[in-house]
Amino acid sequence: MTNGEKCGLCGTFYEYRKTETWTKGDVECDIAECEVAFAIVQRDRKEILICETCYIEGRMEPVLSRSQLRGAFYQFGLEFSKAGEFDKARSALMKSLEVEETADSVAALAYVEEALGHRMKAVTLYQKALAIQPEHFMAKANLKKLL
Ligand SMILES: [Zn+2]
Repeated sequence: MTNGEKCGLCGTFYEYRKTETWTKGDVECDIAECEVAFAIVQRDRKEILICETCYIEGRMEPVLSRSQLRGAFYQFGLEFSKAGEFDKARSALMKSLEVEETADSVAALAYVEEALGHRMKAVTLYQKALAIQPEHFMAKANLKKLL
């Protein structure tokens, strides 16, 4: 068992800050967290982790393909959103959308705008997500709550 994660781009090793053990029935699962967020990117048929610092310092753009980049920005958006860091989540999701608009990233941005109290922006974005993918479950359910 490792006690940390290594970034596949810059090689920095991040120790786990805390480990929580979740018990579900008779299944025990360790969830470890580092002080930074990571995105997982499929590269040369293997998964590499990319650290938040590489994201902030723009080290992903020169080496990742468009679809890898879109996916990585999207994952950072979700990570920040989960952590309640909605301003950071918004800028990561906006970057993902600059690369390519997908229903998932538009809906994730809508959720962040909703969390920031921007109800009308959230409505517009959920509608946009549904225009891309009419059966998008999260967009449908959340839009219903807002209207
Ligand atoms: Zn890194």
